[in-house]
Amino acid sequence: MAIKYEKLVPRFLGYVKENTRSDENSNTIPSTERQTVFLNKLADELKEIGMSDVKINPVNSYLTAELPSNLDHDVPVLGLISHVDTADFNSENIKPKIVENYDGKSVIKLDDDGKYTLDPAVFSSLKNYAGQTLITTSGDTLLGSDDKSGVTEIITAMEYLINHPEVKYGKVKIGLGPDEEIGTGSLKFDVDDFGADFAYTVDGGPVGQLEYETFSAASLKVYITGKDVHPGSAKDIMINAVNIATEFQTALPDDEVPEKTDGRQGFFHLLELKGTVDNAYMDYIIRDFDRDGLEARKNKATEIAKALNDKYGEGTVRLDMHDEYYNMIDVIKDHMDVVKIAEEALKNLGITPDEEPVRGGTDGSTISFMGLPTPNLFAGGENMHGRYEYVAEESMEKAVDVILEIIKLNNDSKNN
Ligand SMILES: [Zn+2]
Repeated sequence: MAIKYEKLVPRFLGYVKENTRSDENSNTIPSTERQTVFLNKLADELKEIGMSDVKINPVNSYLTAELPSNLDHDVPVLGLISHVDTADFNSENIKPKIVENYDGKSVIKLDDDGKYTLDPAVFSSLKNYAGQTLITTSGDTLLGSDDKSGVTEIITAMEYLINHPEVKYGKVKIGLGPDEEIGTGSLKFDVDDFGADFAYTVDGGPVGQLEYETFSAASLKVYITGKDVHPGSAKDIMINAVNIATEFQTALPDDEVPEKTDGRQGFFHLLELKGTVDNAYMDYIIRDFDRDGLEARKNKATEIAKALNDKYGEGTVRLDMHDEYYNMIDVIKDHMDVVKIAEEALKNLGITPDEEPVRGGTDGSTISFMGLPTPNLFAGGENMHGRYEYVAEESMEKAVDVILEIIKLNNDSKNN
């Protein structure tokens, strides 16, 4: 097979070696200076390959650039978005390994000692990659395919079009942003400044994934104030905050937790519980696909708090609850043409679309609610966020193919 995108793999290997881990305890944008370093390098590269209007937004740190249209008529402007940060896992000194022509059944040793392995008996997805070239970690870091794959694929597609002026394309805007993994990067995304009519995040998993339904999400923090007195003379006086915390947790439905739900089921997830007799604190996330379902869960938490306050005294239990993001289908349902064009691109390339709802959120959830419909396309990676992460070269090539096919199909779209 002729190598169509010869810079794709070297580009990806260069990107993953850059440490761009984000930091949820930071208040700066980006959360880490190392992301700025990488974004500046990418800006230089985008200028070098011939992209126009390359700039880093001073407010949100998105690196944006434009590929001007070479059509003689207007079509909707396509946006392509990915993130440069990596998840909360060791990302120092990443040494990607290449496994050529994988047989789909062997155990792959990640580190030299074989302490960490990719075993098809554990990770059954490996069987899908017989005959392909895999890029893995060396066991002690993540790979950062999430989302350096997406970054690589978008830039490679742009480079292909610039080098093939005989191919016709409408205007494309690209946006490479920070801090997706800590949920803050897209909060200040500037839809007007970006200037696209429809967009995709290229941040999904294996080949075929096309995501336009996500969780609706809320955060819940519970603060409990107890009354600590000498246990010998505590009768009818002591209020034990830890016990009330347990009561709160027990009052929640015990089968609606992440470890007992899948598909379209929602949950309450207790992330942290700490306390003494004097005071206790619980940190939850609440998730549901249905907006009414999310509201019902929030009401449930409020009712439990009220019942406990009735029992132990007003102010014993205080809730701090706020919505984080909503199921993007609420927006996408009025823009299904954006899903249709991606489906058609996949089918034209012989790829079966995989449209399962995401049990999580994407930057596109936030951006869609800002007015730019933004489903999520696959970027190719498997086992994201840890040492078992890997991606096939062929998956990344297919992602570039899909981007180019969407651009081609868009040439016949009406601008409205
Ligand atoms: Zn990602």
